[in-house]
Amino acid sequence: MSYLVLARKWRPQTFGDLIGQEHVCRTLQNAIESGRVAHAFLFTGARGVGKTSAARILAKALQCEKGPAPEPCNECPACLEITAGNSVDVFEIDGASNTGVEDIRELRENIKYLPSRCRFKIFIIDEVHMLSTSAFNALLKTLEEPPPHVKFIFATTEPHKVPITILSRCQRFDFKRIPLPRIAQLLRTIVNEEKVTVSDASLTAIARKGDGSMRDSLSTLDQVLAFCGDAVADDEVVALLGVVDRRMLLEASRAVFARDCQASLDIVARVDSFGYNMRSFCQELIDHFRNLIIVKVSVNPAELLDLAEGELEDVRAQAVTATLDQLQRCQSILLKAETEMALSGFTRFILEMALLKMCTLVPVVPVDEIIGRLKSLENDLGKSVPAPASRAPVSPPKAPLVARAVEASAATVPSGKPSSSEPAQEGWSGFVAFVNREKKSLGAILEHGRPLQFTAHEVEIGFPAGSFHLTCMQDADSLAAVTELAARYFKAKPAVRLSPLAGENRGLPPTVQEKKSLEAAERQQKLEEDARKHPLVTAAVEIFDAKIGEIIAIEQDPDAKEETD
Ligand SMILES: [Zn+2]
Repeated sequence: MSYLVLARKWRPQTFGDLIGQEHVCRTLQNAIESGRVAHAFLFTGARGVGKTSAARILAKALQCEKGPAPEPCNECPACLEITAGNSVDVFEIDGASNTGVEDIRELRENIKYLPSRCRFKIFIIDEVHMLSTSAFNALLKTLEEPPPHVKFIFATTEPHKVPITILSRCQRFDFKRIPLPRIAQLLRTIVNEEKVTVSDASLTAIARKGDGSMRDSLSTLDQVLAFCGDAVADDEVVALLGVVDRRMLLEASRAVFARDCQASLDIVARVDSFGYNMRSFCQELIDHFRNLIIVKVSVNPAELLDLAEGELEDVRAQAVTATLDQLQRCQSILLKAETEMALSGFTRFILEMALLKMCTLVPVVPVDEIIGRLKSLENDLGKSVPAPASRAPVSPPKAPLVARAVEASAATVPSGKPSSSEPAQEGWSGFVAFVNREKKSLGAILEHGRPLQFTAHEVEIGFPAGSFHLTCMQDADSLAAVTELAARYFKAKPAVRLSPLAGENRGLPPTVQEKKSLEAAERQQKLEEDARKHPLVTAAVEIFDAKIGEIIAIEQDPDAKEETD
C-alpha cells in the first residue's frame, strides 16, 4: 500500500470537518438550504487554509444525489466521483497553468452544453488571479449572463489581483488563518489515529511552523514522522524544524525578571551552542515579550495570541512577575537590539548586552504615583506648616533637584530723620543713599569711602591714598557738593574732610560697597538654609533619594506671591 500524504488522507470531506472557517461554512449551508445559491463564488485567503477543500465540499453538496443538501452524503456516485476527482461535471482548473484566452474560450464552449449526469456544471478555478487580462475578459462575458446550469468557484491567495469587474459578480468569502490551538488539536487526533507518540510541545512546534496553514502543518508532520518514526522525541523535532525551543524563551524572560545576569548570559551561550541564529532568537524573544504584554493587558489574550493551551498558562504565570512598564522597556531594548543585529556582525554580543540591560533595569516609579505622593505631601504641609518660603519643582529622580528660593525684594530706604546720636555706620549708609538720589555720580564715589568720622559736626571720609576715588573727591566742585549735601542731610553745618588711607584697612569702618556684598552673601546663605530646611524640599529629597544640586534665588512674581499668601 502506497503512503498517502496526511494532507490528502485527512482532507475534510464535509463542512463540519473544515476547521477554522465556520463563518464561511455557515453562510454556504444557509444558502443551500434556502435555495439561494449564487452562480459565482470567490474564496480568498492564505495558502492551506481550506479554500479548495471548501470548493469541493460545496460542489458535492450541490451535486449530491440526496441534495442539494447542507452536507454531502459522501456515499452516492456523484459525491464519490468528486472526491476521487473524476466527475464529468465538475472541472478543476489551475489558473496558474491555464492562463490564456484559448483556455477560457474552450471553457465557454463547454458551458453551452448541459451537464451530463449531475445538476450543474461546476468550474473550480484555483489561483484565479493568474489568468491573463484577455482570459478575464472572456470569462466576464460568461459571468454577465450565466446559464442557470453553471456554477463558478474561484479561489485565490491574492484577491487584489482579480479585476473589479469579476469581483463584483462573485459572492466573496474570506478564509482566515487557522488558530494554532485548532491545528494542534487536529494534529493530536491524527497522531493518535496513526499510533505515533508525540508530546504536546512538539505538536505545537509543528503547528506553529505551519503558520496558520493546515496543509503546511500536515506536511511538516509528514516530514517529522518520516524522520522520527513512531516515537517522536522533542529534541529531534527542535533540531529537524530548526525552531527555537520555547522553554529557552521562558528561561530568558525568567532570568530577566529575577535580575539574574549570569543566567541570561548562560542562555545566550546555549543559543550559540545549539547553532541557532542569534537574530532569529532575538525575534522569537520579541514575540515572547509581545505575548507577555498582551497577557498582561488583555482580558481575552487567547484571541490575540498564537499560543497553545499549555503555553498560554506558562506565559500567564510569568507575566504576573513583571510590571507592564518593565515589559515595555524590555521590548524596546529587544527591538533596538534586533535592528542593530541586522547591521552588525557582533550579534551574540548585542544580544548579551540587551539581556544584561534588561536584567539591570532600574524600576521606575510611575508618574501618577509621584504626583499622588506630592499631592498628599502638599496637603499635609498645608495643615501644619506656615507659608513656604521656597518651592521645589517636580523633577526626575536622576536629575539634580533644583530648589528655587523665593526672595522677597526689600528696598533699602533711608530711615527717617537722622540724628547725631545714631551709630555712625547706620547714618553713613543713609547719607550715601541720600547722595545717590541727589547726585548719582557723587554717590557712586562715596560708596567706596570709609566714614572715619560721621557726626553733625564733623564728617571725615577715608579713601586709599592715590586712588581714583580720592582724586575725584579732592576736586573742589565735588568737595563743595558733598559739603552742601551733608549740610542738608544733617540740617547743620558739619566740617567735611578727606583723608588718604595707606595700607591695612583692618579696624576701619567698612565702605557701603563692602557692606552691600557682605549683606548679599549673608542673605544668600540664609535663603539656602531656609530652602534646605523647608519640609517640602526635605521630603522631596527623601522620596526621590535626591541631592540638592543648586539653590537659585528668583524674583518673586505675582503667582509665587499668591502661593505664599
Ligand atoms: Zn452524495
